[in-house]
Amino acid sequence: MTERILAVVAHPDDEVLGVGGTLARYASAQIPVNVIILGEGATSRDTGVGGNVHRSSVPLLVDAAKKAANILGYLPPHHAHLPDNKLDTLPLLDIIRHIEPIIDKFKPTRVYTHHGGDLNIDHRITHEAVVTACRPIPKSIIRGLYAFETLSSTEWRPASTAIPFSPNRFVDVTPQLDQKIRALNCYAEEIAPFPHARSIQAVTALAHLRGASVGLEAAEAFSVIREIES
Ligand SMILES: [Zn+2]
Repeated sequence: MTERILAVVAHPDDEVLGVGGTLARYASAQIPVNVIILGEGATSRDTGVGGNVHRSSVPLLVDAAKKAANILGYLPPHHAHLPDNKLDTLPLLDIIRHIEPIIDKFKPTRVYTHHGGDLNIDHRITHEAVVTACRPIPKSIIRGLYAFETLSSTEWRPASTAIPFSPNRFVDVTPQLDQKIRALNCYAEEIAPFPHARSIQAVTALAHLRGASVGLEAAEAFSVIREIES
């Protein structure tokens, strides 16, 4: 089966934080990669972070996403431009309408999206929308559906209020870690100084921790939502 990879994320930079190394790995193997960014990501996200984080304008973020895609090796993402941190104010069906036509046209075999227990509401809604859009109906060719972690959201949700992220699939991104960091640097305004969770050092440390968990130098970790072998 020829693989085709789709990542659906809530905000510009989530695609790099969560699955950027893995996307670069697919792209380097000439496997088609497509990314959908649902939200604008420019207004109220992650309030309380402080510093110069999250003040980029929408055009700047679209440009950053394009540059990051170029570094990671896939075409510029689709932007749905939905309102930031307000996906819960939209009917789920309206969000799914931005995902399903691309699934119908692109026909991905594996789909990556947010963990459903993140602190950020847009991440949780994106998870719901993607799981719904990828429901396993007859003739669906989606063979794998995976959730990624997003630093400063996945680990910030109290375990008492959501299912903690518990990875059971690891992708070796040792050769792609440098690309991931360079792609992340395209979103300069979204990155905070260490020891903020959304810092270059923290992203690098997580990659090494996930790698060392399974005997690799660097990895991205996922939880398998569903895999189908047919
Ligand atoms: Zn996000």
